[in-house]
Amino acid sequence: MNSKLSQLGWNDYFQSQFDQIDNNHSLSPARIVRENRGQYIVSKGETETVAQLTGSFRAQSFDSRDLPTVGDWVCIEYRPEQSVQMIHGLLLRKSLIERQAAGAESKSQLIAANVDTLFLVSGLDADFNPRRIQRYLTIASNSGANPVIILNKADLCLDLPSILNAVAQVAPNIPIHPVSAIEDSQLECIRQYTQAGETIALLGSSGVGKSTLINSLLGEAKLLTQANRAADSRGRHTTTWRELIELPNGGILIDLPGMRELQLTGEEEGLKRAFEDMESVAMECRFRDCRHNGEPGCAIEAALENCEIDPDRYGQFLKLKSETAVAQSRTVERIRKTNSSKQARREKEHRFKEIHVNYRKNKKAHEKWRQQNDLF
Ligand code: GDP
Ligand code: ZN
Repeated sequence: MNSKLSQLGWNDYFQSQFDQIDNNHSLSPARIVRENRGQYIVSKGETETVAQLTGSFRAQSFDSRDLPTVGDWVCIEYRPEQSVQMIHGLLLRKSLIERQAAGAESKSQLIAANVDTLFLVSGLDADFNPRRIQRYLTIASNSGANPVIILNKADLCLDLPSILNAVAQVAPNIPIHPVSAIEDSQLECIRQYTQAGETIALLGSSGVGKSTLINSLLGEAKLLTQANRAADSRGRHTTTWRELIELPNGGILIDLPGMRELQLTGEEEGLKRAFEDMESVAMECRFRDCRHNGEPGCAIEAALENCEIDPDRYGQFLKLKSETAVAQSRTVERIRKTNSSKQARREKEHRFKEIHVNYRKNKKAHEKWRQQNDLF
C-alpha cells in the first residue's frame, strides 16, 4: 500500500472497496482536503489537485449525503495533462459528522467524513457545563467517530476530582483528559490519538481553547497555516488553505470553522437562550432526562409550586421542549436508518457498481469517438 496514502488515512477498509470499483485499473484514490460549492481539492498523497464530479455522479446523487465532503475518499481518473480531475465515485464512509439544519424538514449539512477521533473540548472555567458535553456526545455517537473528552484549562479548576466525577456520570466509558492547552507538555495524552493515518477533529464552544490546542498540535506548521490563511484573505486566486491538514508528528486534522462551532439543532440553541432561567432550574431535577411533567424530584415543578416560575412560561417551555424532542427523535431515527441499515448499505454498493458500469460505458464511447476521429 502506498505509504503516503496510508499517512493520509488510507487503509484496508477503503482499499477493498476501491478494488471492487477499479477493475480496469484506471482510477486512483484521493482524499478531499477542501470543498467549495462543488469544486474540490483532493490529495493523492504526494500531490494535490483540483477535481469535480462527473455528470453521471452528479445525476445519481439524490441526497446531500451522496456528495463528497472534506475527509471523504473518492475515486478519480487522474490525467496529469488536465487541470481539473474527474471524480467518479465515493467510497463508503467510516464516519460522518453532520449538522442538522433548523426547521421541521430536517435537512443535513455535511461537516466532515472519516474522522476517527472526535475531541469534545470544554473549558474548566466559569462556562463549564456537563450538559453541553452530553449534547456533543450525541453528535459524536450519531457520527460514528470515537469521542474523547478534553477538559481544557485544568489550571483554572479548583476541584478537579468532583468535575471529573460529574463528567464521568454523563459520559460513562468515554476517555476523559483534563489538560492545559497552554502547557505543551500536557498534550501527550492528545497526541496518542494522532498516529499516522488517524484522523482527528475538535468540537467545542467558542473560547474553550480549540485554537490553542490546534496550534500546539501543528507546532512549526502553524506559521505556515496562518500564512496561507492570510494569503486567502488577500483574495489571491490560488488559495492554499486546507481544511484537512497532515500533522507534523503524524495524524490528520480536520479543522473547519463550521466544525469547531457545531451545534445541535437550531431550535435547541434558540430554546436554550430563550429559557436560560428554566434550564438552570432544570439542572437540579433528579433525572437528567426529566420532562418536568410529573417526574419525581422535578425542580421545575417545585419552583412552579413555590411561585418562582410563571405558569404561562412553564407551559411555553414544555411546548417548545416537546417540539424540539420530536424534531430530534426524527433526526436520530433518520440517521439511524441511513447509517446502520444494511439495506442502505446494499443500495450504496449497488450505486458504486452503477457508477462503475457507467464509467466503463462512457469510456468505451469515448474510445470509439477517438477512433472514429482518428485520434489514435
Ligand atoms: P477557541 O475559541 O476554542 O479556539 O479558544 P482559544 O484557543 O482561542 O482560547 C480562548 C482563550 O482561552 C485564549 O485566551 C487562550 O489563551 C485561553 N486558553 C486556552 N487554553 C487555556 C488553558 O489551558 N488555560 C488557560 N488558563 N487559558 C487557556
Ligand atoms: Zn424536571
